[in-house]
Amino acid sequence: MIKYVPEMTSVVLEEIPGRLTLAVEISNCQGNCKGCHSPFLKKDIGEELTPAVVSRLVKENFGVNCFLLLGEGNDRTALLSLARCLRLEFPEMELALYSGREEVEEELHEAFDYVKTGPYREECGPLNHETTNQRLYHHGEDITHRFWHKKDC
Ligand code: SF4
Repeated sequence: MIKYVPEMTSVVLEEIPGRLTLAVEISNCQGNCKGCHSPFLKKDIGEELTPAVVSRLVKENFGVNCFLLLGEGNDRTALLSLARCLRLEFPEMELALYSGREEVEEELHEAFDYVKTGPYREECGPLNHETTNQRLYHHGEDITHRFWHKKDC
């Protein structure tokens, strides 16, 4: 089961270049980033993120063209199943996944249009710092450089 924190759902412009993105925070994070910005996301909190829930969220936020999961959770089978369902229901919408791991398996690159990798490291900075250890991929292509003209946000 994949769970999200309903009250943290938001529409964002900065996370995925050129996309109006509906972002949900996923709990049960398996990461262990030093200086984690959201330690509560390591707990088993929130509600199940089902295709029906995503469908409702997308309809409530008309105009979004990307759906972003901020975190992988702890159930790979459910994560891939959710991605497959969303592809079928919203073929025009892109799917994005923020992982806190250094690398992710090919099946995740195939299931999501955008994949962000890399744990949070304060000394390296976020995606819009050229020193960042994190990477954003679009269909396997590293597009991290597209953030580097931006100022801190
Ligand atoms: S990926 Fe890292 S920073 Fe994000 S919630 Fe998990 S441990 Fe915290």
